[in-house]
Amino acid sequence: MNTKLTRRNWLKSSAFLAAGLGVAPALMASESILQPVYKPQIWERNFSFPSDLQGLRARLLANENPYGPSDEVRLAIMESVSKGNRYGHQDSMRLKEMLAEREGVTPDHIMLGPGSTDILEKTAISHFVSGGNIVSADPSYMSLVKTAMAFGGSWKNIPLTADYAHDLSAMRAAIDKKTRLIYVCNPNNPMGSLTPNADLRKFCAEASEKAPVFVDEAYLEFLEEREGKSMVDLVAQGKNVIVARTFSKIHGMAGLRIGYGVAQPETLEKIRSMVRSNMGLCVTSIRGAMASLEATAFHEKTRKLTAESRAYVGEQLQSMGFSYVPSYTSFMIFPIDMPGDDFLDKMFAQRIGVRVFEINDKPWCRVSMGTMDEMKIFIEGLKKTLG
Ligand code: PLP
Repeated sequence: MNTKLTRRNWLKSSAFLAAGLGVAPALMASESILQPVYKPQIWERNFSFPSDLQGLRARLLANENPYGPSDEVRLAIMESVSKGNRYGHQDSMRLKEMLAEREGVTPDHIMLGPGSTDILEKTAISHFVSGGNIVSADPSYMSLVKTAMAFGGSWKNIPLTADYAHDLSAMRAAIDKKTRLIYVCNPNNPMGSLTPNADLRKFCAEASEKAPVFVDEAYLEFLEEREGKSMVDLVAQGKNVIVARTFSKIHGMAGLRIGYGVAQPETLEKIRSMVRSNMGLCVTSIRGAMASLEATAFHEKTRKLTAESRAYVGEQLQSMGFSYVPSYTSFMIFPIDMPGDDFLDKMFAQRIGVRVFEINDKPWCRVSMGTMDEMKIFIEGLKKTLG
């Protein structure tokens, strides 16, 4: 690769981009409200992919599925290209029906979007235009929380327990009259950890009496034991719970941009009264998603290969003396003994893309599970960098 891909170049370009978009003032204003334990770095907040990302030998920075999209999805997309002159309303309806049947609800409980990011952001916009607070774990996935803050919400950040689960009793205690939403990411990003199912179910059922509970299940399909782990049946029971799912992870369709939310029809109406839902969707992606629902052998293969990569990285990290958080997802995280900037510069110089999160003032490396070849490149690069 001829362009020098360093993390500092990224920082400059993404800060510039954010300033141009007017993003920074909103984030800075909301920061004054917060005293978070978890402090993502600036570049992380304004993260954007540079065009020379293709030059990476190991692309392990966005929890993408290296094996997708499946053959079924490729075929469905090719076959639907000729439908590109028409809006996808009918196809959206059909996909909603298929998803509703799977989730045990009616189609008016489903909202589609170009990725679950769309569901996260639109939920945040519609719930925080008149302020209030959001209760969520810290560290956790920040997309919804950041949008909530940019729209005037304040963040009640609740540290995880010692074993990296959501501290549900502390979260329960944090809910007050101004709480507009509770966000739970399970399994959690960036920690890869899981919150015990029965406790979470009880929490969601109880807390949703006070405020809507948003459960982000982006990585749920990576669990070996998935049966009964989703909170979606609480929606079917009429609880004020919103579950977000994505086609970006186990389905291997991140670049095709499709995801969905399952919630009470009134909640979805509230969102749709402010922003439209289906208009960001392409017919090709909708058709691809329909085909992907049937591509179970591909999902199984992804789960198996991801588990193999996790086991390999775990063994290697252990032999190098790192302590890592046991992961239930397609990524792993561990603390490093080097300033985050230096670490990333050294890894990117070897054309290995990973992320660093500052947690309690200490840098942690988050590495996505790529192919076994990529994981070997990562371990070799890590040894050179920190060894
Ligand atoms: N939620 C979590 C926890 C994620 O990690 C991600 C992406 O990495 C998303 C949501 C958003 O994914 P997408 O917009 O591709 O569906």
